[in-house]
Amino acid sequence: MQAGETSTDVIIIGAGPVGLFAVFQLGLAKLKAHLVDILDKPGGQCAELYPEKPIYDIPGLPVCTGQELTDRLLEQIAPFEPVFHLGEMAASLDKTPGGKWRLTTDAGTVLTAPVLVIAAGGGSFVPKRPPIPGIEAYEGKSVFYAVRRIEDFRGRRLVTAGGGDSALDWTVNLAAVASELTLVHRRPEFRAAPATVAKMRELEAQGLVKFETGQPSELKGADGQLEAVTIKRTDGTLFDIEADRLLPFFGLTMKLGPIADFGLNLNENLIPVDTEKFETGTNAIFAIGDIIAYPGKLKLILSGFHEAALMAQAAHRYVHPDKVLRFQYTTSSSELRRLLKVA
Ligand code: FAD
Repeated sequence: MQAGETSTDVIIIGAGPVGLFAVFQLGLAKLKAHLVDILDKPGGQCAELYPEKPIYDIPGLPVCTGQELTDRLLEQIAPFEPVFHLGEMAASLDKTPGGKWRLTTDAGTVLTAPVLVIAAGGGSFVPKRPPIPGIEAYEGKSVFYAVRRIEDFRGRRLVTAGGGDSALDWTVNLAAVASELTLVHRRPEFRAAPATVAKMRELEAQGLVKFETGQPSELKGADGQLEAVTIKRTDGTLFDIEADRLLPFFGLTMKLGPIADFGLNLNENLIPVDTEKFETGTNAIFAIGDIIAYPGKLKLILSGFHEAALMAQAAHRYVHPDKVLRFQYTTSSSELRRLLKVA
């Protein structure tokens, strides 16, 4: 292992419901897992797309919301102490000289493990880019679609844009560190939670936040450094806001992203697997959940849970080729109850 690399038993790409349950099944096999997700929170589609919608087809749970299911899964896997790398995109994959998988994220985290599990669902959630000509040149320098460290924005003149939860949450949170902050939205009504909107209006009344209706339409600056954002009002008139940073929050879209380059013989952006072990065509790379294809596959959470259970059995053979994994019930095995910290 090289300096800066973290070694574990299994690396999981994707902390959606299926990636989370994989931690549980791997944990019962005494395998430790690190999870990487581009989102800043676990739960995948359940937490990002429908946190408050009720789900009715989780076995044994007649009804629970997307967020509740995520919270229960997190509680269930807590005894196995998974390590999360959130807000990081699994960017590239290669092998160590010792034959392990080495995954590098876009934040520079390097993980090595004998087994890789891809639970990437419909792909990584990526921000929708506003239709501003030349915005690419400013991205990562003075245009940001997420906030990794609030401190990076201290003392800056900020423009936030959008009307949903992310736009309003970050407007409220960044107001405390910005030297000036203007929220821009195409209309004065917001989709965000009413409590956050009320908080934003309170900050506006205190002079800590300005609000303008319109859409960012042009960026002014040089070498990726922003000097002003031109705003187009609904009547077509334009005006400039002097700013150092623009943070557009226009929602997320799902893209397969770098996994497409992992050499997995994708078929219509899905990974073919066998249904005995849920292994891909590459040894020690498994795939489970919405990202996979096999005859009869249903894109349901419960299907992903089943796939995780079979995957864990096979993954164990790669991590401990010299050990046999005994099949045991959690109800009757004192060893499993000890692992679950309920003994
Ligand atoms: P996901 O939930 O998609 O999670 C995958 C995660 O991987 C994401 O968080 C993504 O950010 C991350 N990721 C992907 N690529 C990368 C990368 N390169 N680097 C880092 N992170 C990456 N199913 C049911 O069973 N019952 C229902 O009632 C139901 N209702 C639904 C309602 C709606 C509105 C929607 C949209 C879906 C519904 N589903 C339902 C489907 C269910 O949500 C999916 O089957 C489930 O989320 C799949 O889980 P997953 O873990 O495979 O993938």
